[in-house]
Amino acid sequence: MDTHNIALLEGREGQVYEKRQDGPEVEIACDKTSLSGSVSQRACVFCGSRVVLYPVADAIHIVHGPIGCAAYTWDIRGAVSSGPELHRLSFSTDLQEMDVIYGGEKKLYRSLVELIDQYEPKAAFIYSTCIIGLIGDDIEAVCRKVAKEKGIPVMPVHSEGFKGTKKDGYKAACNALMKLVGTGSTEGISKYSINILGEFNLAGEAWIIREYYEKMGVQVVATMTGDGRIDDIRRSHGATLNVVQCSGSMTTLAKEMEEKYGIPYIRVSYFGFEDMSKSLYDVAALFPDRPEIMDKAKEIVRDEIRKYYPEMQQFKAALTGRKAAIYVGGAFKTFSLIKALRTVGMSVVLAGSQTGNKDDYRRLKEMCDEGTVIVDDSNPVELSKFVLEKEADLLIGGVKERPIAFKLGVGFCDHNHERKIPLAGFVGMYNFAKEVYESVMSPVWQFAPRKGGLK
Ligand code: SF4
Repeated sequence: MDTHNIALLEGREGQVYEKRQDGPEVEIACDKTSLSGSVSQRACVFCGSRVVLYPVADAIHIVHGPIGCAAYTWDIRGAVSSGPELHRLSFSTDLQEMDVIYGGEKKLYRSLVELIDQYEPKAAFIYSTCIIGLIGDDIEAVCRKVAKEKGIPVMPVHSEGFKGTKKDGYKAACNALMKLVGTGSTEGISKYSINILGEFNLAGEAWIIREYYEKMGVQVVATMTGDGRIDDIRRSHGATLNVVQCSGSMTTLAKEMEEKYGIPYIRVSYFGFEDMSKSLYDVAALFPDRPEIMDKAKEIVRDEIRKYYPEMQQFKAALTGRKAAIYVGGAFKTFSLIKALRTVGMSVVLAGSQTGNKDDYRRLKEMCDEGTVIVDDSNPVELSKFVLEKEADLLIGGVKERPIAFKLGVGFCDHNHERKIPLAGFVGMYNFAKEVYESVMSPVWQFAPRKGGLK
């Protein structure tokens, strides 16, 4: 297959960059709406808000719009709960033609009342979809009325379509959470306390991270939103520090909490030994008057790495020299994955994200090797082209990228929100290396040879 025949879509040139020593210094275009017809994942504002709020497990989530929007995001994350599981239900007002003509407020009101009576949730999130932006339902008024009648917080999530990208959905979700923060009691919260932001408890990852911090002697007030609870979010303004992973989705909330409650925040990543260790050290360093927190962090890092190191060396021996292509949601995750892949001897030939900003792409350019292709808001055609051209042995992406990898005859690792194996923490790095090893070295590739005539 001549991959040069696979052309970039017209209009995408500014969002694709190949790192070259002697190449021009170009700033990657980002923070823009997706190109029509490119089948990008950035386009749905509502989806952005839904993925952020989804793991709040003791609230009901009502999608105000046609049933298709709810079906598209039904049980969208592998976020697990240690208690209630209301988040896994997908309620929709299922708007029909007559509702579009005459408005859907009455239907929303009836749905809310019925669901609150039946499930007795701690709160309700009401998501606006594209059609609500068109017909102009006043969901604020409905939420206010129901909140007053039922005595629970009912939050509108303004994620109507036509207002931007998935990132605007993240902001809408943060705005809804901010309505809860500061409404609970902060009694019993220690000076040595944090909130974990941007950790969604996929396959139990928030539990792993929480345990590390608690072993260090740091109290975790709220995780937002993994295994999330409304009462924890309401009292989260009592924490001393916000620790933000998935910065694309949660920095808005962290900044607002800093402004309103004076809580500083730091950005971290829990993927890979290097970044995971740094996440513990960075938190410990902010509590200098209690040095035993840092001592404990060092002990955890030492013990955990010692546990997994021998097998990691075996994976590295097999994978050294292999190449990977990365296309994931947040750019911060891309940084971590580059480092994690280097730990197992692999290089990165394609690196991209759905939601990176200018600073992220500048950093990515610095981190990447010569010849690496960097993409913003990519699509299946581009990914196929570069996976083949760069002779990648592995594609790391989400569930929508999986068929691309398998059709091209290369290994795949799911690093998006549908995965069922924890990839965060020290154990997560081990799981990641094992999955990469098993996928890249699988004997199945002799029966499904790589496309493009490459060996
Ligand atoms: S109609 Fe709008 S809100 Fe619904 S899934 Fe499509 S883009 Fe998202």
